[in-house]
Amino acid sequence: MAKVLVIGGNFAGLTAALETRRRLHDKSHDITVISMKDHFLYVPSLIWVPFKEREIDDIVVPIEPVLRRHGVNFINETALKIDPFQSKVTTDKGNVFDYDYLVIATGPDLDLSLPGSDPALKNNTYIGTPAGALEIRQRFFDLLDNPGPVVVGAAPRAGCIGASYEFLFNIEYHLRRRGVRQKSPVVWVTPEPYLGHFGMNGVFGGSTSLKLFMNSRKIDYRVNAAIASIDKEKVTLESGEVIESALTMIMPPFLGQEVVRNSPGLGNEKGFIPVLPTYQHRDFSNIFAAGVAVDVPPFGTTPIPVGVPKTGFPAETEARIVAENISRVINGNHDLTGKPFGEIPGVCVMDAGHKEVLIYANHFARPRQFSVVLPNPTYNTTKRFLEKYFLWKARTGLARLP
Ligand SMILES: Cc1cc2nc3c(=O)[nH]c(=O)nc-3n(C[C@H](O)[C@H](O)[C@H](O)COP(=O)(O)OP(=O)(O)OC[C@H]3O[C@@H](n4cnc5c(N)ncnc54)[C@H](O)[C@@H]3O)c2cc1C
Repeated sequence: MAKVLVIGGNFAGLTAALETRRRLHDKSHDITVISMKDHFLYVPSLIWVPFKEREIDDIVVPIEPVLRRHGVNFINETALKIDPFQSKVTTDKGNVFDYDYLVIATGPDLDLSLPGSDPALKNNTYIGTPAGALEIRQRFFDLLDNPGPVVVGAAPRAGCIGASYEFLFNIEYHLRRRGVRQKSPVVWVTPEPYLGHFGMNGVFGGSTSLKLFMNSRKIDYRVNAAIASIDKEKVTLESGEVIESALTMIMPPFLGQEVVRNSPGLGNEKGFIPVLPTYQHRDFSNIFAAGVAVDVPPFGTTPIPVGVPKTGFPAETEARIVAENISRVINGNHDLTGKPFGEIPGVCVMDAGHKEVLIYANHFARPRQFSVVLPNPTYNTTKRFLEKYFLWKARTGLARLP
């Protein structure tokens, strides 16, 4: 009997655990998920929380019943340390779990080294957590009473710039809809060399569409912009320009989670896991990683560094590769499957404030044969459908579905 331990229970962790279970026909193998959260969170819908279009309860699914139904154990604890030499994981409750195979699917932590970027200082806000989205809700409704300028964007090395664009278009839409847009100039600040670079060297038509959209919405923007600091009522660029702001949402770069940074020999200097195209650790063949936890170096250089967008589609793709490889190894087959991150298709629907843009690239990294951007100016129908679909998928545990 093999013991498979998965740390993290969201996109990558849930898929890896459920898919490993499904692929292992011998049900005596033990599969356990350890996650600090007892629920799946549909992160993409956080952008709607500040505007009361969603409550947090609308976008979470308790995972223990789903996992139990599929024959996977669940431990609601935080992993503090991984000993890759002894194959052990220690948690905040003092429990120690040993494993034959480990999957690290712990997602991102925030790199708050940019002066003033820590949301705890109240200069900046962060849309990527329930607490952050609710804090922005408070600040947004304060802004309606007391309108002022808004700055949205990304810090140098940030890799989740698409989410920041989505927040930008949503806040612009809601300021307009509530009649205070005239008194609230909106500025977009990005390290990208051009609009729509997204950390993946752009997609065909992306830059033009975004430029048209920014102009039609009267959003001022700075590209190739390195933010030097964020203060209470201003954002300062390294060029010396100071942009006034009453509400700031600057996406910070990501780090790997503390559990990886606290575990010598496991991650790189940023706490991400170096993997082979099989998503197997480069040094420990019984450790795999999927999702944001994986180290993906930037695709080329830009004047201001931009991180790679590690989105939901690659997180689930990697998790399926991991599940397949673990089940192969357990069954004595060491001929593993793999796909480098850059060759995974880039599939995304970007919300544009009750509108949307569908983005497809046959490879994340260039060279690619095909990429397209399709604006849907009528409504964000696909985005809303995907939310329902992924919440249904999490509730049913049908992780085999795309
Ligand atoms: C605002 C926003 C909007 C986005 N929109 C989109 C979108 O429209 N489309 C898209 O494809 N992607 C989108 N993304 C990116 C997407 O959310 C990520 O790609 C996805 O969440 C990555 O999945 P993951 O499983 O790797 O990490 P996560 O979803 O972050 O999950 C990590 C899990 O690990 C757990 N964990 C962490 N550390 C520990 C520990 N030490 N012990 C135990 N458990 C731990 C966490 O609690 C969590 O459950 C968006 C991101 C943001 C921030």
